[in-house]
Amino acid sequence: MAKRRQIYEGKAKVIFEGPEPGTVVQYFKDDATAFNNKKKGTITGKGVLNNRISEYLMLRLADIGIPTHFVRRLNMREQLVREVEIVPVEVVIRNIVAGSLAKRFDMPEGTPLPRSIVEYYYKSDALDDPMVSEEHITAFGWASPQDMDEIMSMSLRINDFLTGLFLGIGIRLVDFKLEFGRLWEEDQMRIVLADEISPDNCRLWDVHTNEKMDKDRFRRDLGNIEEAYQEVARRLGILPESGMPGDMQGPDTLQ
Ligand code: UDP
Repeated sequence: MAKRRQIYEGKAKVIFEGPEPGTVVQYFKDDATAFNNKKKGTITGKGVLNNRISEYLMLRLADIGIPTHFVRRLNMREQLVREVEIVPVEVVIRNIVAGSLAKRFDMPEGTPLPRSIVEYYYKSDALDDPMVSEEHITAFGWASPQDMDEIMSMSLRINDFLTGLFLGIGIRLVDFKLEFGRLWEEDQMRIVLADEISPDNCRLWDVHTNEKMDKDRFRRDLGNIEEAYQEVARRLGILPESGMPGDMQGPDTLQ
């Protein structure tokens, strides 16, 4: 098979030209980075697990009517997605105080928030992803007010749904990051969920032990990173007990 043309290489994924117009292939790497690339490492098998986890979550979100870029998984490390124009804004949704929020307001990690908080960060490695408001986003033309209304309402719906989905498997969704893209169909533009949803961009804590099951294990050198990602996949029902990827099943519900 002819080698596909690489369009872009990010920190955790490579984007290749897709087999048909309007599609691209997302290849999930095992590379991990944190603190704006200052910490680098490899998490063996992460790409395979994130490919599966993100596929599963995007499909469940599509089931409830959230438009996404996901088309289908191609193999262990690749998925076919619609080609979109990424809105250069990272949307962070928080349910429990952690990470940069804990630091900024000197609050203990684990404090439940009285209501979910949505934050926006401008996607720029050079600027270290500065936090921005909707005012900046619309003034600088990164997205229109209508785009932002859609992004905000979709993000809250995704948060409600994923919070319940994870709670059902004994995991608290502390916070997570989403990215959206513009999809052009004839003359119509639609905002769709893009990028990935995986333990790389969510904080996931075990409900009973509060054990971290996400990239904080890498950021904070907590060890057992591979096991944590595997456990998330296993609870979602996308890894059989043997630990090798198998056929898709529904999630195990914890009593
Ligand atoms: N996050 C992400 N990419 C980023 C920054 C944050 O995926 O570039 C995710 C992160 O995994 C966490 C949430 O967004 O689930 C909130 O991150 P926070 O602002 O606390 O920053 P961090 O502590 O990760 O630097």
